[in-house]
Amino acid sequence: MGGRPPHDDDPLALDRETMRQQGYRVVDLLVDRLMADGPPLRRAAPAEMRERLGGPPSAAPQPLEDVLARLERDVLPYRSRVDHPRFLAFIPGSGTWPGALADFIASACNVYAGSWMESAGPSQVELEVLGWFKDWVGYPPEAAGSLTSGGSAANMTALACAREAKAGAMRDDLVLYVSDQAHSSIARAARILGFRPEQVRVLPTESSLRLSPESLAEAMETDVRAGRTPLAVCASAGTTNSGVTDLLAGLAEVCGKYEAWLHVDAAYGGFAVLTERGRQYVRDLELADSLTLDPHKWLYQPFECGCVLVRDGSLLRSAFELLPDYLSDSRAAAGETNFADLGLQLSRTSRALKVWVSIQTLGLDAFRAAIDRSIELAEHAADRVEASESLDLMRPPSLGIVCLRRRFAGVNEAEQERLNVALAAALEDSGVGLISSTRLHGRFALRLCILNHSTTREDVDAVLDFLEREEPARRPEPMRERHPDMSEMQFPSPLRAQQLFVDLTAADAEEVAALASQREAQPGETVIERWEGTRDFFVILDGTAEVFVSDEHVRSLGPGDFFGELAALDWGAGYSYPRLATVVAASRLRMLVFDEEAFAELLRFSDVERRIRAEVRRRLERR
Ligand SMILES: *Cc1c(COP(=O)(O)O)cnc(C)c1O
Repeated sequence: MGGRPPHDDDPLALDRETMRQQGYRVVDLLVDRLMADGPPLRRAAPAEMRERLGGPPSAAPQPLEDVLARLERDVLPYRSRVDHPRFLAFIPGSGTWPGALADFIASACNVYAGSWMESAGPSQVELEVLGWFKDWVGYPPEAAGSLTSGGSAANMTALACAREAKAGAMRDDLVLYVSDQAHSSIARAARILGFRPEQVRVLPTESSLRLSPESLAEAMETDVRAGRTPLAVCASAGTTNSGVTDLLAGLAEVCGKYEAWLHVDAAYGGFAVLTERGRQYVRDLELADSLTLDPHKWLYQPFECGCVLVRDGSLLRSAFELLPDYLSDSRAAAGETNFADLGLQLSRTSRALKVWVSIQTLGLDAFRAAIDRSIELAEHAADRVEASESLDLMRPPSLGIVCLRRRFAGVNEAEQERLNVALAAALEDSGVGLISSTRLHGRFALRLCILNHSTTREDVDAVLDFLEREEPARRPEPMRERHPDMSEMQFPSPLRAQQLFVDLTAADAEEVAALASQREAQPGETVIERWEGTRDFFVILDGTAEVFVSDEHVRSLGPGDFFGELAALDWGAGYSYPRLATVVAASRLRMLVFDEEAFAELLRFSDVERRIRAEVRRRLERR
């Protein structure tokens, strides 16, 4: 657009007056829309959306007014309003108006924030913003980072940096350790970076849902003895599931001993360090070699805005810097920062503008107050749940997250889950609010995440009132399809003598039997060993076995029992728990063995899956 008026035959330019009118019109539309009532979520089916929006682009111009009207009618209503005061599902997100305006500025000016040469102003703003973040988390001045599209990109960048810093190119001996509460973006990053299933150890958390430094040390020691190299640990500061922070000091000590990189994913919880109340939940971030923050979560920035920070900033630069001929003119001189050299993106906007503009305009104290209020509301919600006759608190509240369940009398776990799912669906249908669900060590939980600055105590109370009182339909258990089969009475399948398979029809039992192979073990023989990376799932046909955890005998297994289910389950991106116990044959042992593929097939039989999941729950809870 430059300093001159557009030339007459620029096909894409508008005159000043039109630009102003269009801008005012959009602002009016937004202010009205942002203040309008409506539910937190409006779903629609693909067919309906195609119906509304399908079609080729217009070759001729249409008035902006008409285009906006279509957006208003066919697009904007059909989505979640993550900034809605009663959007308490997943991780909500509410931006600020100054932040949105700054995004508009970055976009209208088409700011390129990749090199210092082209972007001294925006680059300095990004350095300032990163400087604030470094200060808040306790990082030293030599730390460096960049603003990314989100936490997923930040996690990926940090892990790439860790690998480059510690090992360079990918190697078979490198091992990554993640907690079973880690965010799925860690699994995705590991997969993209080329970590194979046996190179990622998913470590079970304790009952507090925190990673135990002792079990991390034990896993690392085992790997070192086997000639493998502990590369990095991904811990969490505010898990997405339940908001808890790992014992970072203990983990840092173990990482120090084994020279492993400590990455802390603080995408959800990191900005809680801004307040004293928040620091009760999140501390010791400065111990991390790298950190993920997500300003589009608890720093109230509009999507997209994530952040990666690396304590020794030079490592980030050496992991990503490249200088092709066509960019040599924008090479960074001493003291200059080229953000394109600190991550994946070359062309990149200035995400720092919105952070800077919103914080300068509204004042940091306002952000602090909003963070504190979310935490207070979560604590209030938890108090109410604890005092309630019909609700159970599943975990102490942490940051803005409260996990709970309605207690339905006289029904089993599966039915509890079904009724709670129905309750959450009824809440959505009512338009009163939106929540989501999760599993905590395998147990189903409804989950409230209170984060929006617009949420009030009345909003939280309205949702809890609903959850406390509403009666979801109690449907009788669906009848299972049975295929009565005369032959099964004459030849009872040996498979169905096993508890795990009693619900199978004869035909299904045959299918299952075809998936498995058989294996025998002699007395004293080790079938699986703690920490090894195998994935087979075993069902004992006859004989007995003993289960040990670090030389301690924990239980005995006999015919009909099964083991190996934790390692067989996919945690994400093909990664899974290592073996958490050693199983030794006590007598001659005959077993059915399901390999990884067969196990996945096996889970398609819902009764079998239900029994396996129930055992997973018991196993994880017992820890
Ligand atoms: C949200 C979240 C992520 C992913 O961040 P995006 O910004 O959605 O990419 C990663 N880790 C944790 C702990 C999160 O809560």
